[in-house]
Amino acid sequence: MAEMPFANTDIEDEFALHATSELNKEKKRKRTTGKEIPEGSERNKKKKKQYQPNYFISIPITNPEITDGIRAVQDAIIQKDHRLSKAMVRCASLHVTMLVMHLSGEEEIGIAVDALSDSKDFVEDLLKGKTVDLSFQGIDHFKNEVGFVKLTENDHTAVLTEIAETMKKIFQEKGILAGEGRAFKPHLTFMKLSKSTQLRKEVKKIDASLYEDFKNQYFGDEVLHRLDLCSMLKKKQPNGYYYCESSVFLGSLIERHVFTLEN
Ligand code: AMP
Repeated sequence: MAEMPFANTDIEDEFALHATSELNKEKKRKRTTGKEIPEGSERNKKKKKQYQPNYFISIPITNPEITDGIRAVQDAIIQKDHRLSKAMVRCASLHVTMLVMHLSGEEEIGIAVDALSDSKDFVEDLLKGKTVDLSFQGIDHFKNEVGFVKLTENDHTAVLTEIAETMKKIFQEKGILAGEGRAFKPHLTFMKLSKSTQLRKEVKKIDASLYEDFKNQYFGDEVLHRLDLCSMLKKKQPNGYYYCESSVFLGSLIERHVFTLEN
């Protein structure tokens, strides 16, 4: 499927914004020089080094108790500040990011699909039939620009961290630029200023008092049963969730269930 950046405004986040500005810079360069930069030139090499993440591994949030709770928080915030409606993550897109990466074409997407499949084997070996039960409680923020629901730290989040770190190794060993930068800090983003350029100009910081009433609220649990390789830029699915190149289902029981439903 062809890349369709910006076809869905819900992905007007920092990555899409970056892609737009790169596109504009490129257009300007072409206007001033009148020709494309030759492959292998210093400037081109430099640009290639500045890989921006365009794919990520996602744990989708499927428990309606969690999505309903988050919708209630979003509504309450919007009631207090209407401008922030543009910052809200749609419930169908709610996810926990396990790993971000840059994939530069069909070949690398194929390699990443294989890496995800290898990750499934690793995760199932690690879990030996046990489940990873993620518990969501309380609200926090990154630099007052991103609002998220916290994961309760326990043995389950320790396993989640081990999974994320091993997946990073699996992807990196296959030559994928994955997980560069920050340490893994699992969270569930429900609002971010970077969803809208206009909003970013209007609101510099999200006031923590807007979600004060929900600061310690329990939202529910999500059992890890699926990992998706999602595009940040391709048009989202009609159901509002990200475009997935591939998904792996964890646990043979769940797989059998899906197989039964599909056949
Ligand atoms: P995500 O929840 O992965 O969709 O990320 C939402 C936003 O939070 C993005 O703008 C990320 O850049 C930002 N973000 C994710 N993890 C961190 C972190 N550990 N520290 C600061 N910002 C983060």
